[in-house]
Amino acid sequence: MESGFLPRSIDPERAADQCLMVVGKLDLAPLTRLREWAAEEGGRINGRLVFARDEQGRAVMEGHAEAALPLLCQRCAGVFLFEVRADWRRVFVRSKADEHDLAETGVDVCYHDGPLDVADVVEEELMLALPMAPRHPEDCEPILRPIAGAHPFAGLAGLLKRDRRDNK
Ligand SMILES: [Zn+2]
Repeated sequence: MESGFLPRSIDPERAADQCLMVVGKLDLAPLTRLREWAAEEGGRINGRLVFARDEQGRAVMEGHAEAALPLLCQRCAGVFLFEVRADWRRVFVRSKADEHDLAETGVDVCYHDGPLDVADVVEEELMLALPMAPRHPEDCEPILRPIAGAHPFAGLAGLLKRDRRDNK
């Protein structure tokens, strides 16, 4: 692809017939759910999607995405570029019954009828790969340091103790 961007949508059935492979960038701007995680503008996403058919003739997508997103470090509150990667495999089915049967075997199955929103898939998989509390990979200065002589949660501990007594 000349532009170097992933297509907006792909029909998994047609793509599987063609054994399609697409590699390219993805614009972060329209990915509102992922952008909510970002501490500032910017960041980049690269992805790769490969389609094929499995032994049962079902369309299968194997995907990989890598992104560098500016996230807020939960330890020092500084912004840093977090490298996140996701790999996935989805099997496409045309009936709800097939979806149910396959899901029970632990396969990531996707009921669909029509084209696939590529940005949506990549966004969803990257969101799943993001840590709950992102931190600098190397050591950084914690923003909360214990105050000498006073435990910041001393009052809270007292409340908890009282609570426990009340529950008896
Ligand atoms: Zn940090």
